[in-house]
Amino acid sequence: MSQITRPLLRMLAVLWTAVALALPAGAADTAEQRADRTAMLRTIERHAQSATDALGREHIDPAVLDVMGQLPRHAFVPDNMQDQAYDDRPLPIGYSQTISQPFIVALMTDLLGVEADDVVLEVGTGSGYQAAVLAELAHEVHSIEIIPGLAESAAERLDTQGFDNVETHLGDGYYGVDTAAPFDAIVVTAAATSVPPPLIAQLKPGGRMIIPVGSSFSLQHLMIVEKDEAGRVRTRQTLPVRFVPLTRGS
Ligand code: SAH
Repeated sequence: MSQITRPLLRMLAVLWTAVALALPAGAADTAEQRADRTAMLRTIERHAQSATDALGREHIDPAVLDVMGQLPRHAFVPDNMQDQAYDDRPLPIGYSQTISQPFIVALMTDLLGVEADDVVLEVGTGSGYQAAVLAELAHEVHSIEIIPGLAESAAERLDTQGFDNVETHLGDGYYGVDTAAPFDAIVVTAAATSVPPPLIAQLKPGGRMIIPVGSSFSLQHLMIVEKDEAGRVRTRQTLPVRFVPLTRGS
């Protein structure tokens, strides 16, 4: 082996290890999936132009796009939908529920403004994809799901992929997760008819909640709920959206 080839191979080995470490464990990625994911990011960026008012700028936070560019969405969609895993639309995940449209995940994550030491609550675990995106940006994520079958499969999926800063909970997310409150940020991924008071109570002063509000049969809007340092709550309405309804437990 020549003097040049050996260091080159060593460098490649180091590079490969770095790439492998950057990916969640158990996520095998094909070149096609990587290309589809890059295309998905471009679509998200294009859609962001239509959300300029909500975002206050034309672009989604690059840190959010970076995470979504790494994360294998295909690992969160059913086997029979793999060819659509990177399409910019919601997909069925069983139990009449859906994994949200990638643009909406990017938008909600951006609006949430998560910081590295934040403790975040997600209501509506579903596939676990949104929780995984949050886990890459926050210190700790709690995600609550009301359907036992989904809660179980998402917990297993997140575990297999090495997300050890996500804790999944089974229950009615209308009441939040009292044992882990208060939260720096709360994202609700199912539409409520109004903002649940227990979630406002579990928001830290200075915290922020993103939640779709409206009836399941008519228009819903993405709302930004902010609690200031004095505990005063201010609510703003942004884009029209369409989410599955926040159902209620007993
Ligand atoms: N965030 C998910 C998609 C959410 S779909 C993802 O990334 O895949 C909305 C989810 O909210 C569904 O799984 C639904 O079962 C759940 N849900 C509905 N009502 C709920 C409630 N009251 N408490 C907790 N989860 C609820």
